[in-house]
Amino acid sequence: SLSDRLTATFKNLRGKGRLTEADVDATVREIRRALLDADVAVPVVREFTGQVRERALGAEVSGALNPSQQIVKIVNEELVEILGGETRRIRKAKTGPTIIMLAGLQGAGKTTLAGKLAKWLKGQGHSPILVACDLQRPNAVTQLQVVGQRAGVPVFAPHPGATSELEHPAGDPVAVARAGVEEARQKLHDVVIVDTAGRLGVDADMMEQARQIRRAIVPNEVLFVIDAMIGQDAVNTAMAFDEGVNFTGVVLSKLDGDARGGAALSVASVTGKPVMFASTGEGVDDFEMFHPDRMASRILDMGDVLTLIEQAEKSWDKDEAARMAKKFADQEDFTLDDFLAQMQQIRNMGSMKKMLMMMPGAQNIRQQLEQFDEREIDRVEAIVRSMTPHERLAPKIINGSRRARIARGSGVHVSEVNGLLERFGQAQKMMKKMAQGGGMPGMPGMPG
Ligand code: GDP
Ligand code: MG
Repeated sequence: SLSDRLTATFKNLRGKGRLTEADVDATVREIRRALLDADVAVPVVREFTGQVRERALGAEVSGALNPSQQIVKIVNEELVEILGGETRRIRKAKTGPTIIMLAGLQGAGKTTLAGKLAKWLKGQGHSPILVACDLQRPNAVTQLQVVGQRAGVPVFAPHPGATSELEHPAGDPVAVARAGVEEARQKLHDVVIVDTAGRLGVDADMMEQARQIRRAIVPNEVLFVIDAMIGQDAVNTAMAFDEGVNFTGVVLSKLDGDARGGAALSVASVTGKPVMFASTGEGVDDFEMFHPDRMASRILDMGDVLTLIEQAEKSWDKDEAARMAKKFADQEDFTLDDFLAQMQQIRNMGSMKKMLMMMPGAQNIRQQLEQFDEREIDRVEAIVRSMTPHERLAPKIINGSRRARIARGSGVHVSEVNGLLERFGQAQKMMKKMAQGGGMPGMPGMPG
């Protein structure tokens, strides 16, 4: 699996440094294969991996993750984002019943879902009613009635021998939908779930009927139900339904099967609509809120690689802090390498600056933070990297000609090398003081 292949590379690559184009391409190739294995539609795979590649090439290098891990992290973030980010909740009506309409191909799992959704909502204290608007298949109405019974919710359905449109609007799904919503209003149901007919393939009549139902009842949500096993057809089907009924959310059904769920990514990617629920079996309770993060790792077939990544990121900070603490306990010298490592730590914290800026009571450090420029870290890094190992350990030997050489090597002015050495000297003093006082090392890279 992708997980195995990437884990093998993880072992030797920790903290390798910059993401090279070769690293990115090798990992992106594995990702592409994983997505195709998961049956994500080909054009979606192409666009997605293109985006990932671009982002990975421009990515800041994390000290905690090796290049593959870092790319996987990016891939995961992008997947979660496309799949809907945070799990979205059902939009409720401000007045009157909340109307939920189901749409999708025949056999997608709409009728089954109607029961699951109803039972789930009932469990949350709602009083749903189901409306049977699939008048196409002979047994569709009976099927919904059985489903309703299992869920313990009433079903509004037309009678075959109907006479008056309002009481028994047989034959016309649009009239049934309208009457069903009216029934809900009168009997004070706060949710109406409207089941509709599907065809085996998308066809104009069926879509027109769904469109008319939508227009007649103005639903709060139109949920597009799609079989997780649909594979490459997902894109065309989703686009047809999006154009036809402009659905507001997606439900992925039959996720209990082997399908890795690539359809979720295909649909979400081409329509921009969030996946909201997952159907995971034939039973009325086989239903859950959709979790984009879980789906992302299922699509990638990542096992616990994502957990590994999280742990690596957490332990990096701890490792580094522990290393520094030990150094001071041992009264070792604070070197330019340590100085650089601390600067990188600051960078790894990424949005720390933004976060601190928003915190109340941070007035006194705010001024310092405003002066803190992340590009400064790049310059410091370049300068330190232009020094020899010996110079880094014993900066005292860095005389005028060495300074000139270092400046040339790192592409900065000599005055910047001087400035860095001066700040380093101050930091070193500060660290010594803290070591004697037993305090925690601070962030000497910070100007102020
Ligand atoms: P509809 O035509 O869209 O209304 O689809 P149905 O609700 O009638 O479902 C079609 C078939 O798929 C039925 O045999 C269901 O029992 C089955 N089905 C629906 N949802 C799921 C699911 O999540 N998992 C599994 N394994 N079967 C399902
Ligand atoms: Mg049905």
